[in-house]
Formats: sequence, C-alpha cells, structure tokens
Amino acid sequence: MVKIVLDAGHGQSTLGKQSPDGEREWDFNSRVVEACAAKLKTYENVEVLRVDDPSGKTDVPLVERTNKANAWKADVYVAVHHNANTGNWGNWTGVETYTFNGHSVSKKSTELAKLVQPQIAKAMGLTDRGVRQANFHVLRETRMPAILTEGGFMDSAIDIQALRSMDKLRAQGEAIAEALAVYFKLKKKPVEAETPQPVEPYEKDAPPSPGFAEEFQAAIDLGITNGTYPRRPATREEVAVMILRALRSCIK
Ligand SMILES: [Zn+2]
Repeated sequence: MVKIVLDAGHGQSTLGKQSPDGEREWDFNSRVVEACAAKLKTYENVEVLRVDDPSGKTDVPLVERTNKANAWKADVYVAVHHNANTGNWGNWTGVETYTFNGHSVSKKSTELAKLVQPQIAKAMGLTDRGVRQANFHVLRETRMPAILTEGGFMDSAIDIQALRSMDKLRAQGEAIAEALAVYFKLKKKPVEAETPQPVEPYEKDAPPSPGFAEEFQAAIDLGITNGTYPRRPATREEVAVMILRALRSCIK
C-alpha cells in the first residue's frame, strides 16, 4: 500500500494568503488537492491522507500536519501551494516545485520533484521555473520524501487567468497524481464496464408543453425558433441567436 499525504496549504481565512482581488490561496490549493485525490483513487493500492482542514475553516498548524504524516508513516508528503511575489499585480509568472535545502534532503524528493514540476507547468500552461530548494517546515520536518508545489503566482496578471480556470486547477491536480503514479509505479484499477448511454430524451418533433403551446407557435411565426426539439435545453449560442431574431423581429 502506498500512503500519500496531501496538504492544501494554509486555511481559507489565513491572513495575507490571497490574490490582490481577495481570492483565497487555500481555495486554489484545495481544488488541486481534490482533483489529485480523485485521480489517485483510480489507481490500485493507494491510501490518501489529507492533513489540512478539508473544510478550510481552520489553518491546521504545520507541526500538526507533519506529526500526522510521520505518525501515519506516509511514503510521501505533497504540499500544494500558489505563489505570491509583492501582493500587487505584476507580470512575474511560472510554476515552481520545492524540496528541502538541508543535508537531509532525500534523493527521492528531488526525483519526485523533477517528475512533478514539468507536468504542473504543462497542465497550467505556465512557465517552468524549475525545481528549487527551501527551508520550509513541511519539507524539513517530514520523515519521508516531501515536495511543495507553487502552481503559479496569485498576484500575476498572467498566472491568475490559469488559476481562475477550474479545468486548469483540475489538470494540475491530475498531473500531480499521474507523476506520483509514475514515481510509485502504480497500476490503474480495472475500468468498470461502461453503462450504456441513455437515449435522447428530447424528441425533435415533440409537441410543446401545453402551457407554452400558444406562445411557442407565436415564436415560430416570428421566426425566433424553427419549432424543433421544443423541450430540449438550449445552448448559449442558441439563446443568443433567438434573442437576436426576436430583436430583429421588433425592428421590422
Ligand atoms: Zn502558500
């Protein structure tokens, strides 16, 4: 069993850990950690322990986080953070992964960091600032390979675009999980048989709902819709076109 500790740094209301617009670092970190944990579940023989408060309400003291990881005898400690430079908007940019800067840094930490770092940069679409060393508590006080990622700058006008994308944060989490899978040579769980797709529930020529029939016909007469698929949800482009047609029919 491979035991993986995930740590979404800080808590939601930790002072100063936010973008210049007030978006909280923990919210970014937590989305990445959630995606990472979900992806790890698709592999066999993995256990995940999250050492921050998953509700974000409390900023669990760092010593508590590392004590938990040590007591659990984790195989690896992964802390997920997002960077800040001055706290005011600027054009600095990029992704970093840290290992401990002391003598006791394990080769394994460096090996893992080198796997994770380029994958995060790719997932976020941001500059790769490389693997770096620092004397951070979670890197120093953990008795297992440990890395700390900084998946972009919260106070970067460039990086914040990626940080505001749920897809990119998810991709970042999955990239970390996939790098861990490579590192620990994890095997995918067998995929369950696919459930057959339900048939299209919205008929092309279905009658409109009784309460809407009259006005739906009026809308057809005005050319706002051609009357097909009356009960199917509309996409944004369909809505936009229908509004435009309605406005045009007013001008006529
Ligand atoms: Zn942080």
